[in-house]
Amino acid sequence: MKLENIRIVMIGTSHPGNVGAAARAMHNMGISRLSLVDPQCPIGDVAYARASGANVILDNRETHADLGAAIADCSRIIATTARRRSLPWPELDPREMAESVFALDDKRQVALVFGREHSGLSNDELQMCHQMVCIPTNPGFSSLNVASAIQVICYEIFRYQAEPYQLPEPEGPDLPASSAEVEGYIEHLRETLDGCGFLNPQQPEMIMQRLRRIYMRNELTRSEIHILRGILSSVGKQLG
Ligand code: SAH
Repeated sequence: MKLENIRIVMIGTSHPGNVGAAARAMHNMGISRLSLVDPQCPIGDVAYARASGANVILDNRETHADLGAAIADCSRIIATTARRRSLPWPELDPREMAESVFALDDKRQVALVFGREHSGLSNDELQMCHQMVCIPTNPGFSSLNVASAIQVICYEIFRYQAEPYQLPEPEGPDLPASSAEVEGYIEHLRETLDGCGFLNPQQPEMIMQRLRRIYMRNELTRSEIHILRGILSSVGKQLG
């Protein structure tokens, strides 16, 4: 895994100082790709002042309307959160996160996703992630400033890269599916289940979220997505 394949995604950030401080933290740790999703503040003097010279990170930032667009080419998406959720999620500490990232080969694109200052990540955003990383903190006061959280996560990545061992991932023609491919499949599944009357029209999301967890737990490959979509297409034909 190369540092340039790792991007930091900040969703709905409302304070420009946090974007600047995040840029500084990233640059200190050799991570250069910053994606802003639906930023709620202008990136101007305040952000640049807090970046303290890490201007290149801000100059080269990307901006996207939603998380899907920011991670479309990524095949490992890691959410960061201080909160534990009711649905079971594979949860890593920062050290384990760095280890799992560096076990991937350098054809992979990895996104580390950070939430809004006041409300963190929405459940829909979390649903798009494979893993969750939680920085251990005082249980009575667990939420870090978003730029501080980015600092800790980037530090663990930087530190791990100096370590000797790397597990090469077997890579054949069967590459891991990208987020856009998985989302395409899940949409196809939703349409099919809707078409055959399986989904409760009042609460389609309940079952869709559970199904989604099965797929996100397994890191599907492209050919598996191909098979799964083939099944749905056959069902679709039968249904007319
Ligand atoms: N009240 C919000 C706090 C958001 S803090 C909530 O409960 O979700 C802003 C962002 O910083 C979070 O979305 C997360 O990306 C990151 N963050 C804060 N504390 C963290 C922690 N202990 N571990 C991992 N990420 C954390």
